[in-house]
Amino acid sequence: MSEILIRNARTVLTMDDAGTELADTDILLRDGVIAAIGPRLETTGEIVDARHCVVTPGLVNTHHHLYQGLTKAVPGGQDALLFGWLQTLYPIWQRFGPEEFYVSAQIGLAELALSGCTLSSDHLYLYPNGARLDDSIAAAQDLGVRFHATRGSMSIGVSKGGLPPDSLVENEAAILEDCIRVIDTFHDPSEGAMVRVGVAPCSPFSVSRELMRDSAILARDKGVMMHTHLAENDEDVAYSLEKFGCRPGQYAEELGWTGPDVWHAHCVKLDGQEIDLFAATRTGVAHCPCSNCRLGSGIAPVRAMLDAGVPVGLGVDGSASNDMASLIGEARQAMLLQRVQNGADAMSARAALRVATRGGADVLGRHDCGQVVVGLRADLALWDVSGLESAGSWDPAALLLAGPQKVRHLFVEGRQVVRDGRITTVDIDAVLTRHKEMARTLAGLG
Ligand SMILES: [Zn+2]
Repeated sequence: MSEILIRNARTVLTMDDAGTELADTDILLRDGVIAAIGPRLETTGEIVDARHCVVTPGLVNTHHHLYQGLTKAVPGGQDALLFGWLQTLYPIWQRFGPEEFYVSAQIGLAELALSGCTLSSDHLYLYPNGARLDDSIAAAQDLGVRFHATRGSMSIGVSKGGLPPDSLVENEAAILEDCIRVIDTFHDPSEGAMVRVGVAPCSPFSVSRELMRDSAILARDKGVMMHTHLAENDEDVAYSLEKFGCRPGQYAEELGWTGPDVWHAHCVKLDGQEIDLFAATRTGVAHCPCSNCRLGSGIAPVRAMLDAGVPVGLGVDGSASNDMASLIGEARQAMLLQRVQNGADAMSARAALRVATRGGADVLGRHDCGQVVVGLRADLALWDVSGLESAGSWDPAALLLAGPQKVRHLFVEGRQVVRDGRITTVDIDAVLTRHKEMARTLAGLG
């Protein structure tokens, strides 16, 4: 039996159904689960002093491309729109292999962990030079964060009217075969699972209609979730109208891509009818506000989605289109963008944090995560509000208005992954050194 007692937390934002907030409370973690919450709890295990901390559920990242961490701020892509940006980066990604995938995943997940993230999904849709989904799963397992890997794919290259170069696309039969392999090898459907696997064709503009349909059939046969990009910007919608003769929501619906086992990244351009469709089918959305700003895609109608009952979580998106991966920063950006669009009362600091925690857990089908509630998984972020960023705040629990950008402590499945602002589980400095060498080599500098 392993226990940790979080003692005397200043405020706990539980994110339970009633939105309960607790003051001066202890939280007992036992064997990966929240075992008790209340004053003056006892333990024979380790005690963590949380007097100056606001405790939240661990933040949940619902969209990422971790491999892109080696291509941040690439000059040719810095100011391009989505399609031009992709065309700049495809030739660089083509040079990646297994070690690039492992190292970039570990650095990306460490960056996320320091910003409060305990559960991340990843969308890996290209597999050059022998690289496999296995490489990023190994990185997450070694770091100790909860991980939902999705087996992405691209099958329509330039010669068939798609966007990616032919050399980066795969044969559709081989894609489906590898989806089965990684699901059978890694997917854990049980409560408390540290690794789950999903099926994730890259986007309607890089795979065929048949692969979209067959991926959905396979995912449902295997009982795993499905993920892709949808309605990201005007170009994306125009492509759908021209090639498929319908809007993205209709395309998704026709191919089986709606339901509580599906979540789509971006959805910046969903119209009212599509929002109603997503709400009625409980289809999830990964809202990526920084990426949408960075690529000039627009402001996703998140207020309207939440009002309609669409499950919404947050995503940092790939490091090459953000270019940072701070999940707490993403939550602040989400709050600010809805205010730009809908006014100052459109999204409160607490509401945005709820999307970042419980919202993301719901989108990923993790009803065992996302709340500080007895019996749920012990995934917690502790934010020290005694520092500069919170100084002068009359409401330190309004973390997104005035609060730290990094956690003091982070627990995943009851294990301390960040202690006093440092990753504890791997030698992150050594990984960072290797990451820098790789980035220099790719840029032709080393
Ligand atoms: Zn993406």
